[in-house]
Amino acid sequence: LVSREVKEEDTIIRFPGTNATIGGRDFAMIAGPCSIETREQAFAVAEEVASAGAQFFRGGAYKPRTSPYAFQGLGEEALKIMAEIRDKFGLRIVTEAIDNEALELVDKYADVIQIGARNMQNYSLLKAAGRKRKPVLLKRGIAATLEEFLMAAEYIMSEGNYQVILCERGVRTFADHTRNTLDLSIVPAVQRLSHLPIVVDPSHGTGKRNKVIPLGRAAVAVGCDGLIVEVHHQPDKALSDGMQSLYPEQYVQLMNEAAQIAAVL
Ligand code: PEP
Ligand code: MN
Repeated sequence: LVSREVKEEDTIIRFPGTNATIGGRDFAMIAGPCSIETREQAFAVAEEVASAGAQFFRGGAYKPRTSPYAFQGLGEEALKIMAEIRDKFGLRIVTEAIDNEALELVDKYADVIQIGARNMQNYSLLKAAGRKRKPVLLKRGIAATLEEFLMAAEYIMSEGNYQVILCERGVRTFADHTRNTLDLSIVPAVQRLSHLPIVVDPSHGTGKRNKVIPLGRAAVAVGCDGLIVEVHHQPDKALSDGMQSLYPEQYVQLMNEAAQIAAVL
């Protein structure tokens, strides 16, 4: 089902009631904080990214943290805050479901169900997401091959949900100058084999703020369908991923540069 041999034309994900799309010719921008921390924080970031021209707002309600003692997310309270953000700013909401229980709530409040890198091969979660009717943003596992990545998408589609958006977010290598190694070569590789849209996450892909704009530009140039970027109005106070979160003015810069590059492709 993921294959271009089965379906030649690009899949375009549409969002009823808006002109936002993912896939095809238009370029999608998904931006917001790593985690929803408070209503004030979430609204402050949403206002910045909406006025810069994002169509989608990202924010974690359930956080898959390396340490069990680190901030784990506000759960349903965060989902409610994001639903308010959709109403106020017209942004579509993208947020992660870390397990089957969270999936039910994410499906209830959000517009796009995110499956995180750590869950890319959680087949029961993939199948459950495949039984939902909302688009699924599937992140590449930290050591997944192209074949494994596409097969994870196949699990979702095999249950009847064909609205899958792939996301490259960096893989683990020996390199220690970067948190992960962003593998931009997977974009044309996916596009050759599959009709599904692919977006790139230069935030988790690099882990360092000063690398996000250059790698974001490169991702646009390589021909991806959109970017997902972490932005915080006070990155040094962020409860998660502050080091890789852009300041709002940097996000404006990335938006402008991405639009210019996308326009010449
Ligand atoms: C995220 O996007 O919030 C996230 C946790 O990303 P990943 O699953 O790619 O680590
Ligand atoms: Mn994050």
